Amino acid sequence: MKAEMAEQVALFPEKYGRVPHLVVILVGEDPASQSYVRGKGKACEVVGIKNTTILRPATITEQELLALIADLNADEGVDGILVQLPLPDHINEDRIIAAIDKEKDVDGFHPLNVAALWMKQPCTVACTPKGIIRMLDEAGVEISGKRAVVIGRSQIVGLPVAKLLLDRNATVTICHSRTKNLPEVTRQAEILVVAIGRPRFVTADMVSEGTVVIDVGVNRDAATGKLCGDVDYDAVEPKASVITPVPGGVGPMTITCLMENTIACFLNRVAR
Ligand code: NAP
Repeated sequence: MKAEMAEQVALFPEKYGRVPHLVVILVGEDPASQSYVRGKGKACEVVGIKNTTILRPATITEQELLALIADLNADEGVDGILVQLPLPDHINEDRIIAAIDKEKDVDGFHPLNVAALWMKQPCTVACTPKGIIRMLDEAGVEISGKRAVVIGRSQIVGLPVAKLLLDRNATVTICHSRTKNLPEVTRQAEILVVAIGRPRFVTADMVSEGTVVIDVGVNRDAATGKLCGDVDYDAVEPKASVITPVPGGVGPMTITCLMENTIACFLNRVAR
C-alpha cells in the first residue's frame, strides 16, 4: 500500500508543483512518543512525503504551543499537522487539538472531524480505527451482519472503531471497565476489537472458536521489557480465525492510514 502511495506522490511535483508536507510536533522526551514519531518520519520517507518534526521541551507553555499551531495553520506549505500525544499535564490536550485547522487535522481528532464521523459526513477518520477496518477488509472478513464487540471506549480508538463497524452494519457492543461478566460478552463476539492498554488481558477462555481478534493494545511486558498486546496472543491464536500480532499488526496499518490522510489533506488543499 505504501508503494502505491509512493507512486502516486511521485507524480505530484509535476502535477501540483510540490509534495505533501506533514509537520509533527513532539513535546518532551517520552521514549515511546519519540519512537512513534520516528516511525511516522520513516513512513514519510518511504512514501515521499515531506516531513518536518518540531521538537519542543516539556516546559513549553500552552500559549506557546497554540502560537506554534497558529503559525502552521497559516503556512500554505503545510498540509498536515500532528501533535504527538500525550502532552505534559499542564497543557490542555483538547484545546490543542481543537486549535489545529480541521483541514490539516491528519489525525482526525479535531471535534469537527469527530462530529462529522458520527453524522456520516465527509471527514478525516482517525488513523487507528480506519486502519482496523482496512485490516478486516484486507483479511477478507465480512463485517455486515456480524456481532462485533469492542473493549474500550476512548475517543481515539474504542468509540470511533465501534462507529465504523456500525456503519458497516455490524451489531456492536461496546465494553469498558464497568462491564459486568466481560468474558460472557466477549464470547459472543464474531469480531473482537481490544483497545484497553493492559498486557495480555484477553485470555483464551474469553474468545470463541473462529473469532476475528484485533489487538490494538501496545504494552511493555514488565518481565521481558518487550512490547505485547492486550491479548494473550499465544493462547488465543489457536482459537482465532484471524488475529493481529503486537507489534506488527494495527500499529503499522495506523501509520499507513496517516500517510493516506496526509495525501488526502494535500489533495483537498491543492484542489481549492
Ligand atoms: P484509554 O484511553 O486508556 O482507554 C482504555 C479503555 O479501556 C477505557 O475505555 C477503559 O474503560 C477500558 N478498560 C480499562 N480497563 C478495562 C478492563 N479491565 N475491562 C474492560 N475495559 C477496560 O486507551 P486508548 O487510548 O484507547 O488505548 C488503548 C490501547 O491501545 C493502549 O495500549 C494504547 O497504547 C493502544 N493504542 C494503539 C494504537 C495503535 O496504533 N496501535 C493507537 C492508539 C492506542 P473506561 O472507559 O470505563 O475507563
